[in-house]
Amino acid sequence: MMRTSFLPFALPDTGDAELAAVADVIRSGWLTTGTQVRAFEAAFAKYVGAKHAIAVNSCTAAMHLALEALGVKAGDKVLTTPYTFAATAEVIRYLGADPLFVDVRPDTLNIDPERVADAVKKHEVAAIIPVHIAGEPCDMDALRLAAGDIPIIEDAAHALPTRLGGRLVGNLSRFTCFSFYATKTLSTGEGGMITTDDDAAADRCRIMSLHGISRDAWKRYTAEGSWAYDIIAPGYKYNLTDIAGALGLVQLGKLEAMWRRRVEIAARYDAAFGSIEELQIPARNPANQHAWHLYMLRVDNARLRGGRDAFADALRRKNIGISVHFIPLHMHPYYRDTYGYRPEDFPIAAREFSREVSLPIYSRMSDADVADVIAAVLECVDAARA
Ligand SMILES: *Cc1c(COP(=O)(O)O)cnc(C)c1O
Repeated sequence: MMRTSFLPFALPDTGDAELAAVADVIRSGWLTTGTQVRAFEAAFAKYVGAKHAIAVNSCTAAMHLALEALGVKAGDKVLTTPYTFAATAEVIRYLGADPLFVDVRPDTLNIDPERVADAVKKHEVAAIIPVHIAGEPCDMDALRLAAGDIPIIEDAAHALPTRLGGRLVGNLSRFTCFSFYATKTLSTGEGGMITTDDDAAADRCRIMSLHGISRDAWKRYTAEGSWAYDIIAPGYKYNLTDIAGALGLVQLGKLEAMWRRRVEIAARYDAAFGSIEELQIPARNPANQHAWHLYMLRVDNARLRGGRDAFADALRRKNIGISVHFIPLHMHPYYRDTYGYRPEDFPIAAREFSREVSLPIYSRMSDADVADVIAAVLECVDAARA
């Protein structure tokens, strides 16, 4: 069996409400940061239960600003996971600091709190950036215990809406950074958010997100604004547009409905693949709420001819969009050559990457799409059984 059309790996769930909201912004004549962004920030802060939400144009920008607000500087060490996207570690390099990688747990692929505890005994660490891979939360209680006084910035690019126990990710640490990139669970095309309860840090992030100029500079072309402003630091240009803010507001209103659809899809995948010996379904703690940004399937490379690579190619040939998350950072040329890493320096990350393949999971998928993915996976396993 074979789909006649390609099923994309990810698609945003945007419709008429998003179109209308964006059209209103364009008609209003105010396209950049303004009332829509402020309303999106207020709604987002309320949703996650944080005192402050600062909208920026990416999660990368959000993490950069959080590190800057903590005063991380050249030569500092920031502890993070190698099992993540480029953004998590590049922001550490932006400030001249160095990433201190710690390997992941083999089950969830989240950073291993025991290794974090060991690392902070051996090194002076300025901050810790855990990543909630796929939307399954890190063990934040164990991490906090290991971290002691070291501030934590959560990379929550996959973790909306994720709950640790009953608590939504968004106010569990000093900073939480979200992504609204095109493929994420809430999308504004490009966008990000910093949430924090820290007043001074929130102020600093806001100022540095807009050239380091004095507060409310975005108002300077409005009736209540003033032409005067002070530059207090060489800041960045990380503000979000009102076009994106309006999209974000609509998307936030349907976030839980979109999540519920992904839960259904994950349950169907689990039921179909849970008993297949060559496959391993994603680990999750039933006490938590998985956001299901990704469905990270793992294959048994020894039992499938050609292993993961052939399996991924075969799915593509059956018109199923797949992806692989992630090539561990220490295996990329920049980190390998700068820090002299070998793949075996973080053996769990290297091994699990070699057998990972992510399946499509997004709310616009129809039941027939889900059935096509399941049929294709089962056929590819059958065809490659060693
Ligand atoms: C997508 C992603 C980011 C970066 O998000 P942007 O909004 O594109 O900057 C950061 N971390 C992880 C784990 C991601 O998947």
